[in-house]
Amino acid sequence: MPKRFLLLTILLVAACAPSPTPAPPPTPTPIAPADDLAIYRPALAPANQGDLAHLDYPTRYALTLTYDHATPTLWGSAEVRYSNRQSAPLNEIYFRLFANYPDSGGKIVVSTVTANGTLVTPTLQAQNTALRVPLAEPLAPGAAITLRLDLAVTIPRHSDKHYADFTANDDITTLPTIYPLIPAYDNAGWHLEISPTYGDWVYADASLYAVTLTTSSTLTVIASGTTIDRRENDDATTTWRIVGAPMRDFHLVLANRLEKVSATVGDVTVNSWYEPADAAAGTRALQVAVNALRTFNDSFGAYPYRELDVVETPTTAGGIEYPGLIVIGRALYQNQAGRDVLEFVIAHEVAHQWWYAVVGNDQVNAPWVDEALAQYSALLYFEKQRGASARQTIAQRYFEPSYNAIRTAGRDAPADRPVAAYSEDEYVGIVYGKAPLFFDAIRTKMGDAKFFEFLRTYYERHRYKVVFPDAVLKTAQEACACDLSEEYQRWIAGK
Ligand SMILES: [Zn+2]
Repeated sequence: MPKRFLLLTILLVAACAPSPTPAPPPTPTPIAPADDLAIYRPALAPANQGDLAHLDYPTRYALTLTYDHATPTLWGSAEVRYSNRQSAPLNEIYFRLFANYPDSGGKIVVSTVTANGTLVTPTLQAQNTALRVPLAEPLAPGAAITLRLDLAVTIPRHSDKHYADFTANDDITTLPTIYPLIPAYDNAGWHLEISPTYGDWVYADASLYAVTLTTSSTLTVIASGTTIDRRENDDATTTWRIVGAPMRDFHLVLANRLEKVSATVGDVTVNSWYEPADAAAGTRALQVAVNALRTFNDSFGAYPYRELDVVETPTTAGGIEYPGLIVIGRALYQNQAGRDVLEFVIAHEVAHQWWYAVVGNDQVNAPWVDEALAQYSALLYFEKQRGASARQTIAQRYFEPSYNAIRTAGRDAPADRPVAAYSEDEYVGIVYGKAPLFFDAIRTKMGDAKFFEFLRTYYERHRYKVVFPDAVLKTAQEACACDLSEEYQRWIAGK
């Protein structure tokens, strides 16, 4: 659910000012000869491989990494091709170093940095979670630069910090955004906020990833994207080559005993990875993910990636979404009483592939844009599976209790605030409880035909882009040719 979803309650910066409108980008030009994009095509389902040619100057990450489970450490290099999509020159480029988040228990050190082959001297900012790379010459709009960074990451062992999602355990290692990531740049500038841990931290543009990872042959690499090559080396290691595109983030899991069941939905392969002792729940997780994928394909538009991985991990978050990969907490597999919660969480996280991975938003400052729609999408999944009555029962079970708890405590608040504006229970009650009811309210007013037309248009129009809150209201009002400002004020902007 929430990226950070709280189990039995169900589920789970800056200012209340409206999010900024992005600057108009320069007219896109082809980023490379067509054959230069060929390496990324396996990341996409065949029907969507043409999407690559229409991206708006996507950043390219070439990560060459080695993971040692004994230490546990990860090291290597990132070569990043970045284009200035703004209308003004850039004098600097930032990377986020999420492994340096306060209390993460781990650390990333970036040593050598070059820009177009010339050594540069970066500086750390934002409590060492941001690396500022100064440019000798301003980067003109539409111009590109190649940055190369050497990196070394220390990974905490058996960590319960950050929802136990950045940790090396005996049997599984999970590495969220383990490499230097260029954050979004919009009218507010570079986004370097340190969000509370109960919110998502990545706000980034859809990018192209080519990852080479070498590690012990005893480990299976489960990642965003598609593995295009796997080669055993002479020293008992295996080198994996993986591509992901267009993705805002790239997630890595290394496991030594997870089992897998798979199915296909059209050209998409869905993999469910689970502990051997949890085979029944792992098979159920696959079926839920398959049904969710089918429901959302029909309701919103096609899932574009070639694969979707559902991975049982020790995370205490319930579930967390990454592009092409969702992690689901082990407790949900092992608690039979939580069967419906497992189903809800998987549906919610699968929905994030549409709302976050493909249609991006500022998860730090406007988290309702993806979270509320992922919540409501989970309700739509249950309607498809269980019938029309689920519309009411799911809202009553998963949305209303957490919201009512906050409201009756006198802490009702607008839903369009940054994560940092809320305490954790307010975040759950307002963003995951109250804001999804906006979508139910406008659905009632618009009627189902116009409501689903709105969702399909919203998805098609904003694929691989970033939306701001006004785009939700604008697209919905266009679809119904009606005024939804009253509903928006009631459930999103007001209290
Ligand atoms: Zn979520």
